[in-house]
Amino acid sequence: MNSEWREHPKLKGRFLPDHPDDLQVLVHDGGPRISRNPAEAVWVSVTGVEGEVFRGRVLNQSHNLKSARQGSEIQFIVADGAEFPVMATDKYLRERGSWVIHPCGKCGFSDLFDAPSDLIRVVFPNQPANAQMSMFTSFCPLCGGVQGVESKDDPAPRDGESADLRQAAKRPWWRFW
Ligand SMILES: [Zn+2]
Repeated sequence: MNSEWREHPKLKGRFLPDHPDDLQVLVHDGGPRISRNPAEAVWVSVTGVEGEVFRGRVLNQSHNLKSARQGSEIQFIVADGAEFPVMATDKYLRERGSWVIHPCGKCGFSDLFDAPSDLIRVVFPNQPANAQMSMFTSFCPLCGGVQGVESKDDPAPRDGESADLRQAAKRPWWRFW
């Protein structure tokens, strides 16, 4: 059996010596805007990897979570600022590439628990469904700090002036709140 993930730089050192496919993963029902259930670390046996997205089977039952039941298959990623790898939904992984996630100002967590479209729907309930949101802030699901979420789909600058404006917009504006 090809267990290429055992040597993956993102996972190396996280496996149990006697169970070289098993590690702890932070599983969740969504961040604080979406779910009241706190995230929990469970044991997961890794079954596959594609790039930096890992697949695995949940080995033990979480206490309160609806997702990630014992025996179910989950996907997870390794994020900056988090003690354990973090469960990621299909929807989050689909949308993630369209956004720049600025790490949490407090703990440095560099991912979200929720798909950006779900966060936008909850945080801005009065927005029309087709509204384009270019930037918003989110509460860090690990520590309650603030993360900035910025769309990559901003129109490209057409001349020097708008390029300057665009540069100015890249300052970490959310830190000044
Ligand atoms: Zn944080």
